[in-house]
Amino acid sequence: MEKSLYERDRVGVQDCVLLEEYMSQDAFINNLEKRFNHNLIYTYIGNVLVSINPYKALPIYGENDIKKYQKTHMIENPPHVFAIAESAYRDMIEENKDHCILISGESGSGKTEASKKVLEYIAAVSNQNGDAKGVKDKLLRLNPVLEAFGNAKTIRNDNSSRFGKYMDIEFKSMGDPVGGNILNYLLEKSRVVHQNNGERNFHIFYQLLKGGTDELLETLNITRNISDYSYLTNKDNRIMEGISDAEQMGEVCQAMHVMGISAREQGEIMAIVASILHLGNIEVKETGGIAEVCGKESLVYAANLLGCTEEELKLALTQKTIHARGESVSSPLDKELSVYARDALAKAIYDRLFTWLVTRFNESLQNNKKGRNKVMGILDIYGFEIFEVNSFEQFCINYCNEKLQQLFIELTLKSEQEEYLREGIEWEPVEYFNNNIIINLIEEKHKGIISLLDEECLRPGDTSDQTFLNKLCDNLSSHNHFISHSKAESKMKKILGRNDFALVHYAGDVIYDVNGFLDKNNDPLFRDLREVMSRTCNSITKAVFPVSELLSKKRPETAVTQFKNSLNELMNILMTKEPSYIRCIKPNHLKKPGVFTRDVVHHQVKYLGLMENLRVRRAGFAYRRNYNEFLYRYKSLSPATWPFYKGPSKDGVREILAFQSCTPDEYRLGKTKVFIRYAKTLFYLEDKFQE
Ligand code: ATP
Ligand code: MG
Repeated sequence: MEKSLYERDRVGVQDCVLLEEYMSQDAFINNLEKRFNHNLIYTYIGNVLVSINPYKALPIYGENDIKKYQKTHMIENPPHVFAIAESAYRDMIEENKDHCILISGESGSGKTEASKKVLEYIAAVSNQNGDAKGVKDKLLRLNPVLEAFGNAKTIRNDNSSRFGKYMDIEFKSMGDPVGGNILNYLLEKSRVVHQNNGERNFHIFYQLLKGGTDELLETLNITRNISDYSYLTNKDNRIMEGISDAEQMGEVCQAMHVMGISAREQGEIMAIVASILHLGNIEVKETGGIAEVCGKESLVYAANLLGCTEEELKLALTQKTIHARGESVSSPLDKELSVYARDALAKAIYDRLFTWLVTRFNESLQNNKKGRNKVMGILDIYGFEIFEVNSFEQFCINYCNEKLQQLFIELTLKSEQEEYLREGIEWEPVEYFNNNIIINLIEEKHKGIISLLDEECLRPGDTSDQTFLNKLCDNLSSHNHFISHSKAESKMKKILGRNDFALVHYAGDVIYDVNGFLDKNNDPLFRDLREVMSRTCNSITKAVFPVSELLSKKRPETAVTQFKNSLNELMNILMTKEPSYIRCIKPNHLKKPGVFTRDVVHHQVKYLGLMENLRVRRAGFAYRRNYNEFLYRYKSLSPATWPFYKGPSKDGVREILAFQSCTPDEYRLGKTKVFIRYAKTLFYLEDKFQE
């Protein structure tokens, strides 16, 4: 194990700020690789934690490890996710500030695992007398349920979060957890009806089939055979090494119980999950352009489980009713529209069930005691994604990452440099790319991509994905971060199809296929189906399809606008808190332990902006304190200030530092604060102070 912060031996340095060749990306990556090869997956850049997914269980999260970090300063122990959790937790209690831990990185880099470690740490070190046991138990049980319903196997990650999650934990002044709240973002519901090769549907479907009791399966009229269900039948998507769906089903049910979800409600939840499988098996025929449901059994089962009649469901799936001037006229759907309606229903039910679960958890975690409590937030949200074909979902996810990058710039790079400027500290500015320009391209009113997409969705007449694409090209072609087919250089032109546009994101170029953008943004569910759902006997479906929604004359917000608004709310929440960062890196694309592929890491280091981060940090000063505070604490360290000192505090601070033989390189005196470059200087003063 490592002995001290300054050890630069074979295991590399714990804080990249200490690298001699700190400007070199190679040296930076070498350091990460060296450490990774010794199972040292954590490294700091100042107070930012870089974490590399080991893809194997490491013995570093036990009780003793937790003890080691408890009540210590970050610098006293090797880098660890526990140190970040400890530092945020302690600072929250002692400084009375709200905190948030922002976890970022691409799919499979270890964000969700890190967020779970933070939770485990907080649960272990808080409220050791035990009266918050109930709340802590709930906080720990949340993940298995959220993951069952919101995670799935993708080609990138066997347990990929297909929704974004921000969770607040509320603490009493002594640091005992008293409640919590989750915000969920954009579940990838298209997965319910379709998965790409090698991917699976959400875990819960398999957990139910493999782990439900015989009795339950009989009630739900489902078999254990995955290939019986068309929504689950994709080539090669069924087996998941090392994960037992059956075992997890038990854990999920237990966790729901702890979260206060009754047996009856659990029955209804499973009925909904099973009804979706039956819906997927409803086949539609077409005679003379009119859709007709065959596969009657599935229709009956689905209707029974949802709590409507078979006839009601059949009609709603095959016809469309238009209400106008007190009259209603029904017209039949063709096969394509009918299948579309069926899939839209399955997606909507699942999506609303997920939000219902989150709402129930929030009720269960609600803190009923009045008074202002402190809050620690944990953000675990989808990382930047580039697939072979990128659609509306990737557009939203990557937009979200642009927003988070902007926050990172605002809170670290920009604010740090602005403070030096304000304080009149001599400073060589560090260049970094400000991604505001891309955010504007996406969200600017009237002119941005979101406005143009909404406009095309709401405009009456003949609109299509293609007219949307034309509109983008007409309006945005001159923008440096937008590439249309006609504008693309020859190399890009070859890969940029006629249905595509590309965005130059801060993290790289992404080609988006416009196919489906309008439909996914409009996200229509025919009224006939919403009506039937609002009358069902399953109390959950009835609750999530309220009659009030049918009566409302207001057009619902489009998917992208809802997402934009919720992201902006999230940014406001995060801006008011003290942030800590965990930057997760994936060492290879094979999901394998022990493999460190430099190219793969290099790409992530680049787009996470880690080199800029390091440069600002290195050029900067690790600690700063205003003169009065500094003087108050260390006045005993110089005869000029001890025991009495009446002069200006800045001069007093200068006396102390001079008496302690601090070299001019170690500190700077700003307008209101003293800036200390290295942690070791502060530690030296602390040691002297303790003597
Ligand atoms: P996504 O964006 O797809 O949700 P993610 O960043 O949340 O990805 P995780 O699910 O946290 O990624 O990690 C992927 C897998 O990597 C985990 O299921 C686990 O097998 C492994 N892993 C991640 N972090 C660790 C760790 N600290 N120790 C051991 N294994 C880990
Ligand atoms: Mg995840």
